[in-house]
Amino acid sequence: MSINHETIPEADFYKATTMAKFVERSRLSAIIEEFRPELSQFEEIYKDIYRNPELGLAEARTASIAANLLKDHGFEVHEGIGGHGLAGVLSSGRPGRTVLLRADLDALPINEATGLSYKSNTKDVMHACGHDMHVACMLATASLLRAAKVKWSGTLVCLLQPNEEKDAGAQAMVDDGLYTKVPIPDVILGK
Ligand SMILES: [Zn+2]
Repeated sequence: MSINHETIPEADFYKATTMAKFVERSRLSAIIEEFRPELSQFEEIYKDIYRNPELGLAEARTASIAANLLKDHGFEVHEGIGGHGLAGVLSSGRPGRTVLLRADLDALPINEATGLSYKSNTKDVMHACGHDMHVACMLATASLLRAAKVKWSGTLVCLLQPNEEKDAGAQAMVDDGLYTKVPIPDVILGK
């Protein structure tokens, strides 16, 4: 996946001069402005996940929220990888590099002491590490990049990893055949 840069000559672009970087940043900002989805729905997803935290190996509900949204946006979704892990694949329809974005699904065994209106409804489980925000940001990003598909080439993989807090989910996904289901990425961007 790469940003199309038809207004910048190929050679100049890869020289990565200050001007090229500036122009590219401006172009990215313009794409984000043009294709940014309505964000209130993702705020609701964030609060929903915050309110319903799930520990590692038990992230079924959180995973299904992510899977459903990715499916609704036309991703080819592979579920149940290494537990409740999942990955959605979206091709631009044009050749290019593969970029994998990753986020985590699980919460922590901590009792919530905030008075938030959307605080955890599960005793001794809380999204204290921000994985609720990871998922919400990932889904908003997937929505934006789906809408902006004419602006990039290659393949996008949105991966949601289970069981991160016990340092086991990533290896479990690989061991469960992740890369037989999704293309091997050229670039991985994590949180
Ligand atoms: Zn964490």
